[in-house]
Amino acid sequence: MSFENNEDRSPNTKPLHFLLVPLLAQGHMIPMVDLARLLAARGNLVTFATTPVNLARIQPIVERAAAAAALQIRFIELSFCVADAGLPNGCENIDLLPSMDLLFPFLNSLHLLREPLEAHLQAPDPFQWPRPACLISDNIQNWTIDFARALDIPRLIFQGPSCFFLLCDLLINRHVVELEAAMAAASGGPVILPGLTLPIRISKHELMLTLRSDPGWFKFIETMKELEDTSEGILINSFVELESWYIERYHEEIGKPIWPVGPLSLYNKEEDAKAVRGRVSSIDNKFLLQWMDGKEPGSVVLVSFGSIAHNTMEQIVEIGHGLEASVWPFVWVVKEAAAEGWVSGLGEWMTEFEKRVAGKGIVIKGWAPQTMMLNHVAVGGFVTHCGWNSTLEAIAAGVVMATWPHFGDQFFNERLVVDELKIGVAVGVEKPTVFGVENDDEAAVKVRRGEVEKVVEMLMEGGHEGNQRRKRARELKQKARMAMEKGGSSWKGLQDVINYVIESQKNKN
Ligand code: UDP
Repeated sequence: MSFENNEDRSPNTKPLHFLLVPLLAQGHMIPMVDLARLLAARGNLVTFATTPVNLARIQPIVERAAAAAALQIRFIELSFCVADAGLPNGCENIDLLPSMDLLFPFLNSLHLLREPLEAHLQAPDPFQWPRPACLISDNIQNWTIDFARALDIPRLIFQGPSCFFLLCDLLINRHVVELEAAMAAASGGPVILPGLTLPIRISKHELMLTLRSDPGWFKFIETMKELEDTSEGILINSFVELESWYIERYHEEIGKPIWPVGPLSLYNKEEDAKAVRGRVSSIDNKFLLQWMDGKEPGSVVLVSFGSIAHNTMEQIVEIGHGLEASVWPFVWVVKEAAAEGWVSGLGEWMTEFEKRVAGKGIVIKGWAPQTMMLNHVAVGGFVTHCGWNSTLEAIAAGVVMATWPHFGDQFFNERLVVDELKIGVAVGVEKPTVFGVENDDEAAVKVRRGEVEKVVEMLMEGGHEGNQRRKRARELKQKARMAMEKGGSSWKGLQDVINYVIESQKNKN
């Protein structure tokens, strides 16, 4: 039995009780589960609020935490009556929405979690934990503003994206009039984002995605802004050595504490912890590890597009042919193959494909143990949608990336990876996939098979440039690890969070 790391626990400090309220989406839940375990490993009490379906998904991690006697962490199950919001039964995570038309009803129903959470806190506690000293909520859980006020405790936010994106987003919203004018003068071409020392060029769709004129989004952006404006500080899943300039600038702009505490994925040191992050793997991990063990170091391409982005049948076929034509072995995560109805005809095509590539490639139909694979010595490159968690997990593992953003902040993360950190090559996608309408004809194919093959070659080989990219990625991996080690910048970041809550308690007494 392996145990959670509790080496940072300081025996003389009185434990604080942290209440964590994540958004019910994989990209938000996964890092907050790590955060919860990290806070508990520092000797704190942690209540992690989730729902039955989500709790079932993270059960292996819950069991690990329970097995570690010293970790005082409770994963509590709040009933979430999604049917009241017109959502199908069990639809408790964004990746379970049958259609993105239900996204706003889903987000609008999150406040239903408040009542069961209140009831939980009011119920007699057999363990007699003190009441929560601090609430850390996702920046979309807007009901937590009043909730924390009622408890009279500090409310901090956990921000999912990179600080680079957060700053760009803020500057775009601030300079929107001049940006729109500059864009009109450039006939819609890219313009430079003011307020940064490095010239960041943004295109029309990037401008639009952060402004999002859709009334539903507009409302949520307002909500997120309110949550941020009224919070006492912000935790980010990043580290100083990665984006110090952006962290400082963002701090100056918003004028409240920012604590980089990542990469949170590095808390999962043991193989089995990496293997069960997020949910149970759709493939036999032993078989997968054996297969990867049999490959040359740095020879395998991992292809995965996160938990929400979907590709069309046409695009999937193009990716498959590109990988088949490439000389490199691969592991390709095709979640569309697990969800019936997402892509028709995929099953038959995939069966034939798998026969053709047997030995050279593996297809994971559903959930993949991504952190485990990224940290395997055989993996030499990662074709990613640039979700911030995936990006940071690759950085923490020292793996170079081929960037294929689909929507949202992913286009900005691509800039950071390719232009600034220089540890990736761009696949060359310029237009976003419209969130939720991936089957739209116009969006059917963004990258043809020949381009897939070419970008894989650049990623895995790439001559002198390729070597330089790999060298930089290795250096960043070291920095990421040092940041999370005792005394490192992110280790201190989390200590500063704890100290902030201690001080705020003292000020009240
Ligand atoms: N992930 C995983 N297996 C999968 C798909 C995703 O472990 O098959 C994890 C991935 O490691 C990351 C998270 O899910 O921690 C996805 O978050 P990200 O921000 O990269 O993208 P999103 O899914 O939010 O678009």
